[in-house]
This record gives sequence, C-alpha cells and structure tokens, in this order.
Amino acid sequence: MSEQKSKIYDVVIVGAGPSGGQCARLLTQKGHKVLIVDRVRDLSLNNFSSAGAPLSILEEFELPKSVVATYWNKLTLVSTNFEKKWISPEDKGVVMDFTKLREFLLDEVQKHHGEVKLGWEYKRHKTLGDGSLEISLYNSINKKIENVVTDVLVDGTGSARSITGKRDNPKNYVQGIGLEFIVKTKKEIDSKDFQFFLGYKYISNGYGWIFPMSNKEYKIGVAWYPQYLKKPIQPAEYIEKIIEDYLGLDKKEYTITEKHGGTLFYNSKRKDTYQNGRVVGIGDVVSSVNWLGGEGIRYGMRNATLATKYIDEAIRKNEFVFSQYEKEAKGYLRKEYWIAEKLSKLVYGKLSDRNITRGVKVVSLFHFDEILSVLFENQYSRLFVVINRYLRKKFFKR
Ligand SMILES: Cc1cc2nc3c(=O)[nH]c(=O)nc-3n(C[C@H](O)[C@H](O)[C@H](O)COP(=O)(O)OP(=O)(O)OC[C@H]3O[C@@H](n4cnc5c(N)ncnc54)[C@H](O)[C@@H]3O)c2cc1C
Repeated sequence: MSEQKSKIYDVVIVGAGPSGGQCARLLTQKGHKVLIVDRVRDLSLNNFSSAGAPLSILEEFELPKSVVATYWNKLTLVSTNFEKKWISPEDKGVVMDFTKLREFLLDEVQKHHGEVKLGWEYKRHKTLGDGSLEISLYNSINKKIENVVTDVLVDGTGSARSITGKRDNPKNYVQGIGLEFIVKTKKEIDSKDFQFFLGYKYISNGYGWIFPMSNKEYKIGVAWYPQYLKKPIQPAEYIEKIIEDYLGLDKKEYTITEKHGGTLFYNSKRKDTYQNGRVVGIGDVVSSVNWLGGEGIRYGMRNATLATKYIDEAIRKNEFVFSQYEKEAKGYLRKEYWIAEKLSKLVYGKLSDRNITRGVKVVSLFHFDEILSVLFENQYSRLFVVINRYLRKKFFKR
C-alpha cells in the first residue's frame, strides 16, 4: 500500500451525487480550488435514481437537454379500483438519465479547473494545527492511499452520511427503500405518461411508478417504508404485477435490462449534522429529500446551492463558521417538510386500501397544474380546496 504527499484544496467534496456535483460546480465557478471524489469508479455503477422531476428543474439549475431521457405531458394516479389521468398539450416534466446528469455536473467542474477523482473512498480526516483538515482517501483498485488537505470538507455522501454519520437517536431515522427495473418492450406504451401507483394492489405501504425513458424503455419500480410493514414484502413481485397485470405484458413481450435501487434514511427531527467545525453536510446527508414522494434531486441541489453561498463566504473571510447555513437550511420549507412527513405517514402507514382509493378520487378533482403544485411545489393548502370541491360535488351534486 503506498501513501502520497498531501495536495492542498479550498474545498474537498465527498460524493458526486446531484448535491455534491452542484456544490462543486458552483464553487469552481466562483474560482475556488475544488476536489470532488466518489467511491464509484464510474457513475453508471450507481445509477440508482429514477430521476423524475418537473420541467422547471432544467431552468432552475441550467441543465442541458442532454441529461433528459424523456419529457412527459401526462400524469396518471392509479389506485386499486380507480385511476385518473391528467393530460396537457405542453410538456410538464422530465425523466432524466441519472448518470448523464451527474456526469454533466462533473464536466462543468472540470471545465472550471476543478479536480474529479472517481474510485476514491473517504476513509477519515483529522484537524491540523492551522485548523485545516487532512483527509485520507483510499483507492480500492490499486490499494493506494492519498492524503489531501482542505479548508472545508463537504459531506455529500447521501444517506450513507459517510463523514458526519447518523448521530441522532436511531428512532428518528425513517427508512424508505426503492427497487427499480429498466424494462424494454416492443409493445406500444404511452411514452409521455408519468404514472404513480398507490394502494395495496400494486404495493402495500408505499408507491409504485412507471417513468418513460427513450427507445421503448421504461423505469418501473416500487418504494416502501419498512417501519410501516406488518409483514415482509417481495418488491420484485409487485413490479412484475405492474408490468404484467397493469401493462398487460406477457413474459415474452419484455426484457429487464437493469435492476437497481437504493435506501434513503430521513431524519424526521431535522437533527442531521449540517456543520461540525469545517465539515458541512449537504443533500440527503441533511434529509433534504421530500419524504412524501421521495423527490430528492431538486431539493439536494437547492440545499447544495445554499451551502455554497456560506462556503464561498467562509473562504473569502477566512472564518469557518457555518451556523448560519444550518439555520437557513433547517428553516427552508420547514412547515411544508413537516406536512409531507405527516402525509407520508398517513398514506403509506395508516390508510386502508379503500381509503386510498377514496383519496385518489378526491384528488382526481384537481386540475393538472393544481396536482403538480401539490406534488412538486409543496402547496398542501390546496388539499383543502379539493376536499371542499369533493364534498360539494358529493352532497350538492355541483
Ligand atoms: C430508487 C430511488 C428512486 C428515486 N427517484 C427519484 C426521482 O424520481 N426523483 C428525484 O428527484 N429523486 C429521486 N430519488 C431520490 C434522489 O435520488 C436522492 O435524493 C438524490 O440522489 C440525493 O442526492 P445526494 O447528492 O444528496 O446523494 P446521492 O445521490 O446518494 O450521492 C451520494 C454519493 O456519495 C458517494 N459516497 C458515499 N459514501 C462515500 C465515501 N465514503 N467515499 C466516497 N464517496 C462516497 C456515493 O457513491 C454517491 O455517489 C430516488 C431515490 C431512490 C433510492
């Protein structure tokens, strides 16, 4: 095992997910000396995310069309006994290629003279006499250790929290697991329909989805919350049910070209480590994901953008205090995050199959833009509007 002399950076970011990539991209644009590392040697090896999002993600983060697998203009909610489809003449969202998204962010980093190291794992760090941090990185292929020195260390390692750890009471971390198949078929399936499944027929205590990609490929998956399960489930069987029962595909009519998935750990008390001296946590490390639907890319990138502001300021002032970042990050959509958690607990943990179908019937009275504003913009007060609409329709037939 060989060890090399330390190299010096302003910021070292561990984790090249959407949050780490966005953080590195913005800091290099501001002229800082940045290193971003990830333990995978090729980002396609952890292509775990379905990467669905509203169309606004492209403009908000200046993402090119090359990261888009497909655009969708329909949204379907399927429950055990009822389904609703919304259709728009314009595109409303995208399904991205998760690998291409992260590769794009790393290309941007290199374009602005940042350094990228794939296949390197964060092992440990220590504080040096001048307050800077020395980090040990390990390359498992050539068994090499490299030490680097930095003013700021960013933990962008997602739910693993490889640097900051899960230090709060284990009870406060709720778990969501997703399994997804990439399915190829020659049969005609709507390639612009973003479909969600709720209710016990297609997945109990969670939700399922069909997200179109290009070339007659579809991301079909299920997500579930182990803490709500009364008995163990076979997630692959639920996915097959969506493919065979819902889409009506015979085994010979489709091939599964890839299987992947991941686990998210979410701290419901907002007690993650946002900052500890010169270490800053971003993205899923600080539970930035929306817990109702598991949408984490936009929120992780937003959180990274916020952190960048404080990291830039700290380096320029040579004052490495990040308490204001923690305050602002925790305050962001505080009420909305709380409601999303409660709704998630209700829908995936408490409601019977019949009541889920009833709920889907109620939300079916939303117009397309209204349902999108609830799902993607956290406008939960609109739920009262639609409940009112439902009651009037039911009792006054209006
Ligand atoms: C099955 C599934 C489907 C999803 N679908 C969607 C969706 O449709 N839309 C959406 O917006 N969100 C979705 N999400 C959530 C979204 O993918 C995450 O919220 C988002 O990826 C979080 O980004 P991040 O950068 O914080 O962390 P991650 O994307 O998890 O990135 C962390 C990176 O850190 C690296 N790493 C970890 N430990 C170390 C270490 N010790 N050393 C070096 N590197 C390390 C990992 O290899 C990884 O690349 C989904 C999640 C799952 C599990």
